Amino acid sequence: MKKVIKNAIDTIIRAVLYIRVSSEEQVKHGYSLQSQRDRLIEYCKQKGYQVIDIYVDEGKSARSKLKNRTELLRLIEDAKLKKFDRIIFWRLDRWFRNISDYYKVQEILDQNKIDWECTDEEYSTTTSNGRLHLNIKLSIAQNESDQTSDRIKFNFDNMVKNCRAITGSHAVPLGYMVAGEEKNKHVVKNPETENIAIDMLTHIQKSGSIRQTLLYINDKYDLKICYDSMRHYLMNEKYYGTYRGISNYCEPYITKQEFDEIQSLVKRNVKNNKRYDYIFSGLLKCPQCGCRLAGFTSKTTKCHGRKVEFKYPSYRCNHSYNDKLCNYKKRPVEKTLEEYLINNIKDVMQKTIINSESALNKQNQKSNKIDKEKVKTKLARLTDLYLDGMILREKYDIEFKKLNLLLQDAEKEPIIEKCDLNRYKDFLKSDGLSLYQNLNNSSKRMFWAKYIDYITVNEDNTIEIKLK
Ligand SMILES: [Zn+2]
Repeated sequence: MKKVIKNAIDTIIRAVLYIRVSSEEQVKHGYSLQSQRDRLIEYCKQKGYQVIDIYVDEGKSARSKLKNRTELLRLIEDAKLKKFDRIIFWRLDRWFRNISDYYKVQEILDQNKIDWECTDEEYSTTTSNGRLHLNIKLSIAQNESDQTSDRIKFNFDNMVKNCRAITGSHAVPLGYMVAGEEKNKHVVKNPETENIAIDMLTHIQKSGSIRQTLLYINDKYDLKICYDSMRHYLMNEKYYGTYRGISNYCEPYITKQEFDEIQSLVKRNVKNNKRYDYIFSGLLKCPQCGCRLAGFTSKTTKCHGRKVEFKYPSYRCNHSYNDKLCNYKKRPVEKTLEEYLINNIKDVMQKTIINSESALNKQNQKSNKIDKEKVKTKLARLTDLYLDGMILREKYDIEFKKLNLLLQDAEKEPIIEKCDLNRYKDFLKSDGLSLYQNLNNSSKRMFWAKYIDYITVNEDNTIEIKLK
């Protein structure tokens, strides 16, 4: 009796389940994780195995490298520790589709006297016939998986060869769009963005700077393209008509040579691009053309035909610098401007408060003098008098004009909002600059943008600060 019990304990097999499903299979064949799991648990129950762990590699395709199948790796580690006796999986292709990986893992299993069982296919590794069958099965599985990826690749290549679009319009670069009927879509020039693309490609060749091109394009066309998008656009081979090695894939904007030149510019930009955060970007206004100045830091720049060195982050009007659409030649230096603002912002605020308040007072005084309702009553009475024949037409005309002017004045007077001034008053009271030096550049920018609408550095070096 004792012996039987001991044997029963000895023979309880500690099983683990291995489940693998790729995202594609889940969608296509409904090989869901849950159905595999249910199947395997049911199987173990029938065989009387004790399930001690479940390893699930989700979203891993048959071609996934061993090192990417994290749960399989955990299983191998546990196998080395002899934590279980048997591995259960659904079909061999869940386990491996690659012969060399299969034998690598099998060796570890053999060393630790662990075997495996497949619930829906029969294999035997104890006979030479069984092993041959297994080898053939694995070869076919590997071949199938190679073919699947070849087939997908072949399909794409074929579409590209026929110049068919394999993506939607969102994935083509600026200046192109996807057009045509379903199953015969092509990448064509987009008439709405064609000019912008030409402008961008011309500008990068001229300026050599992605950031400048970006500022220029966004400003000119009122767009919000980000730096990385523009960098990717500029690296897109479709601009010279090529895609995946097919040279007449779409109508080109530039030649291959021009494209190559742009690539070396882009490379240089990425290397040089330390992403300096310009404190006053968006805050400086060109006094001539009204556009916002762009930040730049370069070793030398042309100024009045001479090469001048700029070591510090500075600003310039790109309409002037790149396109000669404007004559503004000043290059305000960030550091100087920052010092000026720190020293003068309080004065500017105080002046604004004083001016606004006196305007407000004047307005109040005037409003006191002119009581609109009284004037209106007078006007009505005047009309009555005239109609009753109490005054002559000439007298009426003169009085009417006087009263009417008063009324117009009262209505024209602009109303100054009092609440705006409180912001400046708070700033002056709280010594708003005390923490300024501890801020990083982007916080500094937000700090100034809170109070300042724009700053203009005039040709005669006077600085105007327009508060918000
Ligand atoms: Zn300008």
